[in-house]
Amino acid sequence: MAQAPTVPRRGLLIILSSPSGAGKSTLARRLMAWDPSLSFSVSATTRPPRPGEVDGEHYHFLDEARFKSMVADGAMLEHAHVFGNFYGSPMAPVAEAIDAGRDVLFDIDWQGAQQIRNSALGRHTLSIFILPPSIPELKRRLETRGQDGPEVIAKRMQKSWDEISHWDGYDYVLVNDDLDASFERLKTIVTAERLRREQQPGLAGHVRRLHDEFLEEQA
Ligand code: ADP
Ligand code: 5GP
Repeated sequence: MAQAPTVPRRGLLIILSSPSGAGKSTLARRLMAWDPSLSFSVSATTRPPRPGEVDGEHYHFLDEARFKSMVADGAMLEHAHVFGNFYGSPMAPVAEAIDAGRDVLFDIDWQGAQQIRNSALGRHTLSIFILPPSIPELKRRLETRGQDGPEVIAKRMQKSWDEISHWDGYDYVLVNDDLDASFERLKTIVTAERLRREQQPGLAGHVRRLHDEFLEEQA
């Protein structure tokens, strides 16, 4: 369980990307359970829901006209065309969480990560790329997840290199071999990044108080 800060801090935009099947949803779920104050950015998409997917929880399922009008209104923090469908991160809930000092977790592809990094919120962004230990293991994970048929798995495998080839644009890279070890590393990264000076706007006030106390103690 994460500890409450003594000095107010700014929210981080935590981006997880990986080829499909490398384990980013699993790691994201663990991170949310570790720190329930994290808010997950529910993306908008034009793809149809899969069985079991709930509108507003897994995605906001929109038609193309509505999606495009949100983009035109500047209501998307980033957006991209992935596997033949549009995906985007609605801006409003992100801004709200960040202003309240809460981190936001994104499960988005490299195009979205690049756009957020280049946005006004770029300096409050932590991007982490998840690599599989091997390509046969990536395929095995897609198969054992039991979510997709052989055709969809073949399509995801075919697209995996396109995603992997952008690994070097990220702040951190995790090779997700052992899940528990990867999760420990992920928590370490998040814990350290929260302590970056620019993530703690309350520090100046805290140091001023220390100075007052210091002068009092010396008097
Ligand atoms: P992604 O969100 O990247 O598409 P998932 O998180 O759905 O991938 O993981 C794909 C499958 O691999 C799931 O069945 C998950 O339980 C499994 N998995 C994830 N990480 C590991 C790991 N380190 N070792 C073995 N299996 C894993
Ligand atoms: P899926 O359709 O399997 O849920 O997601 C397909 C891909 O789209 C994944 O790589 C996922 O990370 C990416 N994705 C999901 N939501 C967004 C989003 O809001 N923006 C971008 N750029 N990519 C997204």
